[in-house]
Amino acid sequence: MSAQQFLKVIEEKQIEWVDFRFVDLSGRAHHISLPAKEVDEETFVNGVAFDGSSIPGFRGIEESDMVMMPDPTSFFVDPFTAHPTINILCDIYTPDGERYERDPRSIAVRAEEYLKQSGVGTTAFFAPESEFFIFDDVRHESSMNRSYYEVNSEEAGWNTGREEEGGNLGFKVRVKGGYVPVGPTDKQQDIRSEMCRLLEEAGLRIERHHHEVATAGQAEINFRFDTLLKTADNLMVYKYIVQNTAQQYGKTATFMPKPLFGDNGSGMHVHQSIFDGDTPLFYEKGGYANLSEMALHYIGGILHHAPALIAFTNPSTNSFKRLVPGYEAPVNLVYSKGNRSAAVRIPVAAVTPKGCRVEFRTPDSTANPYLAFSAMLLAGLDGIKNKIDPNEKGYGPYDKNIYELSDAEKKDIRSVPGSLDEALDALLADTDFLTEGGVFTQEFINNFVELKRGESKAVNMRVHPHEIGLYFDL
Ligand code: GLU
Ligand code: MG
Ligand code: MG
Repeated sequence: MSAQQFLKVIEEKQIEWVDFRFVDLSGRAHHISLPAKEVDEETFVNGVAFDGSSIPGFRGIEESDMVMMPDPTSFFVDPFTAHPTINILCDIYTPDGERYERDPRSIAVRAEEYLKQSGVGTTAFFAPESEFFIFDDVRHESSMNRSYYEVNSEEAGWNTGREEEGGNLGFKVRVKGGYVPVGPTDKQQDIRSEMCRLLEEAGLRIERHHHEVATAGQAEINFRFDTLLKTADNLMVYKYIVQNTAQQYGKTATFMPKPLFGDNGSGMHVHQSIFDGDTPLFYEKGGYANLSEMALHYIGGILHHAPALIAFTNPSTNSFKRLVPGYEAPVNLVYSKGNRSAAVRIPVAAVTPKGCRVEFRTPDSTANPYLAFSAMLLAGLDGIKNKIDPNEKGYGPYDKNIYELSDAEKKDIRSVPGSLDEALDALLADTDFLTEGGVFTQEFINNFVELKRGESKAVNMRVHPHEIGLYFDL
């Protein structure tokens, strides 16, 4: 798609507003709208100015002028606006015409270039499974309370009446029906189908949708894999459409990893593989899970750098409330085929050579996809470059349920960091694989750590309701 083709779409669809969007360090989208008649080929040369000093983690007030440069390969007609509007993603530039080094999209572009230069392959493909909860607006408040007070997973799982004062008086369908239950337990078939329809219209190719394991309302929609940058762009569209469709149904959708204590959280498993042209490089018949040596080394790199990597793939205080045993979220830094308690899983059901891939299960959707995908690729490439053999390192393969191993059996297994602060410390101690080829700069990493430390401090300073329970009458 070129600028001319984009301008033609504006005309054909009688668009009134062009909405220019960019993504900040946390992965939040921001936008400014221009009347469609003011947008022409010049806009693609000069860009659209905005104040970078008001965006957390971007420029200081003394050098606030920034420019959004629209990318004509990444746009979609907004299905939620009453006035015909087209949304277009932008790269961020400084007023001197340089790409802004902290723009997450610029890091994704550099990561893709680095892959090509490395000689390993030409293209890395990514596919996220971004889970989320849909809450009724009315139940939202009680759900938030539950996240503090519910202590027993059994109670959370079956309708004990906590959702309703006085118990389940109307003999209603219980709120948790297990994995992929049909209606009436699953009440959100239509809302997910509507989300998928709008996602297809926005250009994503939908593979499936389903109810997830947690309490009524946990959902997952899968869209087709694509290149690193395109998949990160697609994920931004995905979150926007999921959250706004929910809003139209009078509900709220959240990608927060652990909104409910005592029930499954929402992950964003990320499937990844490398191709050389049309040739898949991760497949070799006969090896463990039909993995090539390159794929094994990629896994070695991911697991070796995982503590640091997790600062980008799980960058919220809430992320670490999901990464606990017992809820299908990974805790152990090992790999396995099929085993969902391992951080890296190799899907083996219905897999073709082209579909042979590595699934990193740790990430969640509070990750900025541009940063997280780039960091994962760099960790994997470092594993390939340094031939990090996961078997020699003791990272697996483990085909047993690791949650159930005895302490003696588990003693050599490394775990994910226990908190955002631990992950940030691990990141500061292991940055070389990220700064390789200038993809991330040390300055960028320091700035990211500072931003996230601020969030961690803000949470830790607050008195938690559970603390009141523990200490109030001591
Ligand atoms: N919800 C689980 C997680 O937190 C994953 C469930 C699944 O395997 O799809 O990662
Ligand atoms: Mg899932
Ligand atoms: Mg998965």
